[in-house]
Amino acid sequence: MTIETDFSLEVDQNAISATQGKGFSRLLERPKIAKTFEEILGHLPNLYEPHLIWDIFSVKDIDEKSFLLENGTTIGGGPVSHVMKGATQVILGMCTVGIKFDVKIEEYYQSGKKLASVILDGVASFLVDQVRETFFKNITQKMLNEGKFLSIPLCPGESLWDVSDHTKFFKLLQPEQINMSLKESMLMIPMKSLSFMLGVAAQPFELKDKTRCDFCPMQAKCRYSQSKLGKTLCD
Ligand code: SF4
Repeated sequence: MTIETDFSLEVDQNAISATQGKGFSRLLERPKIAKTFEEILGHLPNLYEPHLIWDIFSVKDIDEKSFLLENGTTIGGGPVSHVMKGATQVILGMCTVGIKFDVKIEEYYQSGKKLASVILDGVASFLVDQVRETFFKNITQKMLNEGKFLSIPLCPGESLWDVSDHTKFFKLLQPEQINMSLKESMLMIPMKSLSFMLGVAAQPFELKDKTRCDFCPMQAKCRYSQSKLGKTLCD
């Protein structure tokens, strides 16, 4: 498996402001909120500790629900087989921006700075998604250079793929190496952590005009949705 940490922190104030919702730019006209936001942006370089761990696994078989890997693990659920049909390998990965965000969010909350806690929570979610998206961009190019194609990425819990498959991610990737852990509730620690699976094949996958949000039950409501149904930041 490979561990990557080279994810630069790009503090694009407009993009980060957009993570707080459409009305946030108006709220920033209030001096107190603008000061809180500025303080949060100033903390980011000290909080941001990005790590991503990933590996590639050969596929032995596939049924309508899941993949059987050569190592004997069965993984998948929800739309996984439909989206990744034809994959001869799968890439599994997990990433985080680190525990310092959890500590700071809680510190803000406990000291009564609830707005700062909420803003930082949204910013941290945006940053961990950026880590994952940067990886997707890089691995897509790497695979294309090798004459291979990638499917849409899917994640346990972001579709009808049950979040309990995180136990398999932990067994296969051992993300304890990047200080991630899993609670019995399947909540990953640090809180700002994500997982993903991509199919790899010698031919392009179908459904290339879709995004992972098109398979997510939250697609119409989620603030970050890239689905056409979503009334979101991406509109
Ligand atoms: S709709 Fe939201 S929660 Fe669902 S996959 Fe897209 S970004 Fe993630």
